[in-house]
Amino acid sequence: MDHRLIDLLVCPLCKGPLTLERSAEGKVREFVCAADRLAFPIRDGIPVMLESEARSLDAPPTSAPQ
Ligand SMILES: [Zn+2]
Repeated sequence: MDHRLIDLLVCPLCKGPLTLERSAEGKVREFVCAADRLAFPIRDGIPVMLESEARSLDAPPTSAPQ
């Protein structure tokens, strides 16, 4: 991926910097916002910077709190 593109990417929520996560094979996987605890997927090399598409880094609760 173009590093200039990466430099332009900021979190759509907090406008903070994103961390590029790579798989074990060195392929780009997702952009992580540490502040929001969200990971934005990269599909076919295109970052999907949508909150609705983002994965929460916090483990979801197994049961809904009462
Ligand atoms: Zn953020």
